[in-house]
Amino acid sequence: MRKYIIANWKMHYGPIKAGAWIRAFRRERLPKDLDIGVAIPHISFAAARSSLGRASVPWLGAQNVCWAEEGAYTGETSPGMLQELGSTFCIVGHSERRLLLGETDEMISKKVAALVHQKIQPIICIGETEVQRKKGEASKIVRAQLTSALSGLKSAQGVDIVIAYEPVWAIGSGKPCEPNDARQMHEVARDVLKKKFGKDGETMRVIYGGSVDVRTVHEYVSTTAIDGVLVGGASLDPRAFGLVCRAASPA
Ligand code: PEP
Repeated sequence: MRKYIIANWKMHYGPIKAGAWIRAFRRERLPKDLDIGVAIPHISFAAARSSLGRASVPWLGAQNVCWAEEGAYTGETSPGMLQELGSTFCIVGHSERRLLLGETDEMISKKVAALVHQKIQPIICIGETEVQRKKGEASKIVRAQLTSALSGLKSAQGVDIVIAYEPVWAIGSGKPCEPNDARQMHEVARDVLKKKFGKDGETMRVIYGGSVDVRTVHEYVSTTAIDGVLVGGASLDPRAFGLVCRAASPA
């Protein structure tokens, strides 16, 4: 399975800086055996696409979506609008949105279903807090969050859903989760996927996110159970993100 390397800019880079990032990243020598994407602010899609020109790397994706297709949802963006923007994937349920912006499990499951309906690949973020891990509840939380996020779907409808295991305590903290601990949580996520989707659930990607950088990326992607990484802070500089991509695939 090709590994995913997905950048998450979070709330950085409006159109001017986004265009410059893409132009600089296009100068990077990138491994051909990886799938590389960048999750960008909605406002920056047009600039990023025009800087991308005919290049097919990186894919562009969004960081959030509304579950409804149209209507009285002031300030929101629908899956159909994301498609018009050229978003091939969309992060859903990032812990920053859960913790800072009041996103609930129910909202996340509706967003996942709406994206799948629109054939946009959801990257569903799940992960426990530090307190939950200390209490030995990590597996229980990961299982419950993922089961709930998928609850609006009967089948994957041909969409290659991606799960990002992102322990909250590892995000932006400089304290990444040990690959072996991450592997255990990935196995929990895989079990949920297989129970839900049968054979399709065996091949969906389960990636890791949380303080991954150029020094640590290879440890994750060389672990069989880890199908790639979601990279926040270390993706903000296009050269640094190019280094992460090369380190992920040193061959
Ligand atoms: C993220 O925002 O999803 C993330 C993993 O951030 P960081 O790499 O900065 O921990």
